[in-house]
Amino acid sequence: MHSLYQALMFQHARQLTPVRCAEQTIAQLHRYFEDVVLENGLAALIVESLPHKPERAARGLERVAEVARAARHAFFFVAPDDALHKWPLPSVEGERQPVLLPRIAPGGAREHFILIAEARFSALLVTSLDAQADDEADPFTEHEVIWTFEPDIVYSALEYLMARVTAERFAQTKEFAAAVRCCMPKTTSLHLTVSVTTKLARLLQEQAAREVAVNRIASAIRSTLELPSILQTTVNEVGRALGARACALRIEGDAEQDPMTKCYARDGAQTEAEQAFSCAQLDACHTRLVAQLQEHQADERKTFVLCEEDRDGRTAYAPLVYQENYMGVLLVRTDDARRVWQQSERLLLRTVADQVALAVSHAWLFAQIQRQALTDALTGCFNRRAFDLQLERDLSLATRMRQPVSLIMLDIDHFKRVNDTHGHDAGDAALRFLADVLRAELRNVDTAARYGGEEFAIILPQADLDGALIVAERLRSRLEQTDVPGIGCITASFGLASFPQHASAPAPLVTLADRALYEAKAAGRNRICVPPPPLNLPTDMLDEAAPLSSVATERPASLLE
Ligand code: GH3
Ligand code: MG
Ligand code: MG
Repeated sequence: MHSLYQALMFQHARQLTPVRCAEQTIAQLHRYFEDVVLENGLAALIVESLPHKPERAARGLERVAEVARAARHAFFFVAPDDALHKWPLPSVEGERQPVLLPRIAPGGAREHFILIAEARFSALLVTSLDAQADDEADPFTEHEVIWTFEPDIVYSALEYLMARVTAERFAQTKEFAAAVRCCMPKTTSLHLTVSVTTKLARLLQEQAAREVAVNRIASAIRSTLELPSILQTTVNEVGRALGARACALRIEGDAEQDPMTKCYARDGAQTEAEQAFSCAQLDACHTRLVAQLQEHQADERKTFVLCEEDRDGRTAYAPLVYQENYMGVLLVRTDDARRVWQQSERLLLRTVADQVALAVSHAWLFAQIQRQALTDALTGCFNRRAFDLQLERDLSLATRMRQPVSLIMLDIDHFKRVNDTHGHDAGDAALRFLADVLRAELRNVDTAARYGGEEFAIILPQADLDGALIVAERLRSRLEQTDVPGIGCITASFGLASFPQHASAPAPLVTLADRALYEAKAAGRNRICVPPPPLNLPTDMLDEAAPLSSVATERPASLLE
């Protein structure tokens, strides 16, 4: 015996045109055919061969029940281990009890079909599934599909199915025959046919909208490394393309990155309560995903989900994973109790989650490289380049705000001896120790940078010379009083210069502070020097780094107290 597809192609070759369609499109077409029965209250005979599913979500089962309830007679061809066998079928009036029949067609051909027959309307959609194709195959796998609204062809299909039921399920023959008799396909209502084609147009439109959404997200990713704007575009586009009530995305932070959450609500209805609900959902999905990921890491056979639904099926979510690293969650929520998230919609979620995970990892990598480019690897302080940029920024801000900025240059005394006596590693440890002292003693707004070798530069925004002297003295005495483990006491010499008192541009300010530092060295080390007071010269002349001919003011520690 041929399959239904073969039988119809054999009998009606000229009236049927096979089309190759992706599995996800076929699933959507099935739903549209079912919708004709549901939305128009058609008391029709519906015969459907359902895809093989040992597990079905509650909403999927409910959908089958709904179709069974709406139809006058419903017959479902299902696999022997399908979840439908375990599920109590809806108890509708005896006459309308749906019947489960074996799914595999003779000869092992696997088919997917839906037949609707009624005096006013007849429709048929048949897919010939590749015998080798896996039931859980990639949703893009293509199959040959035929469909028709011709009563004659639908009648032929009923004859074929009648013969099959007789051969395979003799006990149900009478029931099937009775159902066919009272739902004989006679004509096809133009109105109902148009409703199907309208839905097809909608399907095309929805697919186009999803493509546009994916494209817009890709453009956002391409055009910027700014994560907040990429993530907001993502939730807006996904939320809109899927007609969701809400869409939310959370990137989990790590040691260097803060977590980031973005939400979308339909019609701009982003209330605080709505946002709080989305955040709570993100938390719940996150907890589930982390638990699953741990199970997966402990036992490789346990797969990590690609896209899941929560218990009531209203929320679908996908983890953001890049190179086995879990980064966060993307979720969509519907407020339509009847809506079932389609495979194609879940696929969109999956695709976008993958795209965003890649973008996030690029943005993080970029931020890390940027950080590294501005950080000294040994001490964790800013490097010379970062110092130059920061001094430029702080000076221009200070100029606008008419506030002072001070600069401290400091250099460890006799550092060569430290290296020579204790070794280079001990010297490195001393540099790290000094950096820790700077971090501990300075404010957040201050910038400590390794200027080169064992010389450090500190920018003190809003600090005038007196303020800077206090800071420098605090550092000097702390160094003097603290033993570096394994080395003992180290001291440093300090040179200061302030804006606008000594100079108004970065380069002269550095030169003056450096000269003051040189003076401190020359005067015996472990001390602080400042440039001489200006000799009533206009400030712009001082920018030329006035020579320190007049001896720098030495301020031994004791003078500062
Ligand atoms: P002064 O008091 O005049 O500054 O004497 P000094 O010995 O500190 O100065 P000098 O310029 O003669 O020597 C600086 C030393 O700092 C020499 C160099 O090997 C050492 N140095 C520079 N960078 C590093 C580093 O990253 N690690 C270590 N361990 N030593 C460094
Ligand atoms: Mg030195
Ligand atoms: Mg030096």
